[in-house]
Amino acid sequence: MSADRATTAVTCWLCRARPVDSGASGAAASLCALCEQELTRPYALAAQTFFDYLSSHWQMIRKLGRFDLSKPFPGDARTGALLVHLHFVKLLACKLHTNDVPLPLESFAVALQTRRAHADVTLRIADVRVAPGRLLLHDAEVRLLCNQDGAVQSARWTELRQPIAIKVNYLQHGAPLLPPPGEAWHPDRQRKVVRLSPYVGEATAVAGIQGLRI
Ligand SMILES: [Zn+2]
Repeated sequence: MSADRATTAVTCWLCRARPVDSGASGAAASLCALCEQELTRPYALAAQTFFDYLSSHWQMIRKLGRFDLSKPFPGDARTGALLVHLHFVKLLACKLHTNDVPLPLESFAVALQTRRAHADVTLRIADVRVAPGRLLLHDAEVRLLCNQDGAVQSARWTELRQPIAIKVNYLQHGAPLLPPPGEAWHPDRQRKVVRLSPYVGEATAVAGIQGLRI
């Protein structure tokens, strides 16, 4: 391990200034105490509020196929949506960092530090209720699509809190890929109503370009 590598391993990827919190586990293990407990704390709290609302109203939401963001965040649905988005931007970036994915994380750090949405990250909310006798297949890790030069074009990861799935999708701007099916939820483009998306599906090549999978 080189000196650079060793420094990278113990420095918080977000602020790139302070050492990681050695007592933390999971996503928090790649962040310093200040970034985890102060900077991104409001994002985690908003995500908890969001999950609490979805969980307690899921039967109705599933039946309607949609939900209204002004219910979990009365008065300021736009800010609520932004904070939830940033929580998943953080979790995805922590996973990318932990897995040594060759994707620069500056844009993720800027979004989190300036409290602005990441333009290339969207969420999809899906129902994953499994019928008796069927098997749910869940990717616990980040799935990448890279081009022939090895550049990461898409990264996706699903937070599963049965029966709710939050599909987090990074799709590089300009990549010749169509986004996964469903309604891409992004706080800068979103109306208050979010429709549910299918559980399965990922980015595919645009028309006119043949995508080869190996
Ligand atoms: Zn930090």
